Amino acid sequence: MNRIITLLLDLVFQANCKSCGNKMKSDRKVCFCGDCWKAIKTIRDPFCIYCGKQLIIPEEHFCAVCTKRRLSYIDNRSAGIYEGTLKEALHQFKYKGKKSLGKALGDFLSDYIEERGGLDDIDFIIPVPISENKREKREYNQSEILAVLVGQRYNLPVLKDVLFRTKDTAAQFGLRREERFNNVRGVFEVLCSEKIKWASVLLIDDLLTTGATADECSKALLEAGASQIRVFTLARGL
Ligand SMILES: [Zn+2]
Ligand SMILES: [Zn+2]
Repeated sequence: MNRIITLLLDLVFQANCKSCGNKMKSDRKVCFCGDCWKAIKTIRDPFCIYCGKQLIIPEEHFCAVCTKRRLSYIDNRSAGIYEGTLKEALHQFKYKGKKSLGKALGDFLSDYIEERGGLDDIDFIIPVPISENKREKREYNQSEILAVLVGQRYNLPVLKDVLFRTKDTAAQFGLRREERFNNVRGVFEVLCSEKIKWASVLLIDDLLTTGATADECSKALLEAGASQIRVFTLARGL
């Protein structure tokens, strides 16, 4: 009976996959067909042990950028490569109001965290905040949705009243590396800092490109008394 209902629903709501454009069958993930969803490229070894970027040569441990720098967080791990279906899914999730993709994306990130050994060393999860303005327009913070799902899976508290973004900045997209770091300087503020004193914090964001945003958040949390910051992101820019 369930199968018949599913088939009927598919006939009535035969939407097209946002990635390949084909008609979707019953195994779809919101607006993506099952085949495209399964084809999302998870980041596997070898990757840069510092920033999580996919590497090609197995003997290497750091990407070209990380051989020359250290940021304020311990490391970043990203679940998937920011291209194809994952890139489109993030676009739909952030800019097209497809809040319902949050569950599938949160599960994808949570599964990846499990693969990478879980979160035994973490006390709290904090999502990278968006400005009040953006929140009003978008009605939700995509990173907070991901953080809540990870928190549920790992039974960890998610702190939403600690880290704030005090102003909007120019979009990071299209800026050069140094410009990205300058662009976010000083835009994060910590309130209720007593909650994170000596705590090991996991910062969660949707996308990591240069690491500028995560670095700035991490600096603010460390200055407020956190003992260490790790980062997990849904996607890693190439
Ligand atoms: Zn598809
Ligand atoms: Zn790196």
